[in-house]
Amino acid sequence: MKKLFLGANWKMNPIPTGALEKNSPYVSSGNPEVVVFPTFVDLHQCIASNQLKVGAQCGKAEASGALTGDVSMTMLKKMGCTHVLCGHSERRKLHHETDEEVGRQFKSALDVELMPVLCIGETAEERDQEKTNDVLKLQLSFLSTQSSKLKAQSFLVAYEPVWAISGGDPNKPASTSAEAQSMHQFIRSILPKELQSVRILYGGSMKGSNAAELLAQPDIDGALVGGAALVADQFVPIARAAIEKGK
Ligand code: PEP
Repeated sequence: MKKLFLGANWKMNPIPTGALEKNSPYVSSGNPEVVVFPTFVDLHQCIASNQLKVGAQCGKAEASGALTGDVSMTMLKKMGCTHVLCGHSERRKLHHETDEEVGRQFKSALDVELMPVLCIGETAEERDQEKTNDVLKLQLSFLSTQSSKLKAQSFLVAYEPVWAISGGDPNKPASTSAEAQSMHQFIRSILPKELQSVRILYGGSMKGSNAAELLAQPDIDGALVGGAALVADQFVPIARAAIEKGK
């Protein structure tokens, strides 16, 4: 059985209270593997705690240069990050990151041995126009050009329907577990054959009350958690649900 993965995406928020304490729920138990994604300014403190696995919320493909405000994959690797999110929907929307740019970031992360978490997902509008499958195919398409060198264990995919993310449309509910399972199954089926065993995470309003049901789905190998990862007490039941599935 694959090791489950839980990513705590803290977005532009301070390190949650208790995260650096001895009994922190963000410490990896082995299964699930837990990785926290703090802001750039908090990366050092989390890495220096020596107890958290730490990833960055984004990274630039270029190694260095005239890119004010940016940080490269090389720099992230050097400081001790193990993972990096590529193409989170907030980066795609607010920083205009294209599929091409996300593909370059992904490749650059792999080149420096950072594990990329490729975030994909359709917006509410794309879903309403029945474009979901085409959007996902497009977001994954660069993988087929890299698939001969790529291993399923070297990266992760996070399916995050934008309309289900807590920052999305408050009138749309989060995916049901059945909906999420069928999307994960579809995503797996459109990946190049040799990459189909990749771990696919679900992201979109996962919380203590729905974690067990979502994680119980056969094609859901973990989660990327935003809002509920900001409060240690809310993250605990999610970690517990993942521990249960991993047994
Ligand atoms: C996210 O933005 O990665 C996310 C999953 O957020 P939330 O859990 O708040 O929906």
